[in-house]
Amino acid sequence: MSVDQRLLDVLVCPACHGSLTFLNDELLCDKCPLVYEVRGGIPIMLVESARRRS
Ligand SMILES: [Zn+2]
Repeated sequence: MSVDQRLLDVLVCPACHGSLTFLNDELLCDKCPLVYEVRGGIPIMLVESARRRS
């Protein structure tokens, strides 16, 4: 499963507006510890649904 590169180019972290890195079916924020789940190729860009990097 992957995410459209054009989509990744415009997506930013909703919490800090940092850029995101797609890794292991998740989107990792480059600036804060939040990790966003990708479900069926659709990134769940909700701070409430994000988990924190352990
Ligand atoms: Zn962030």
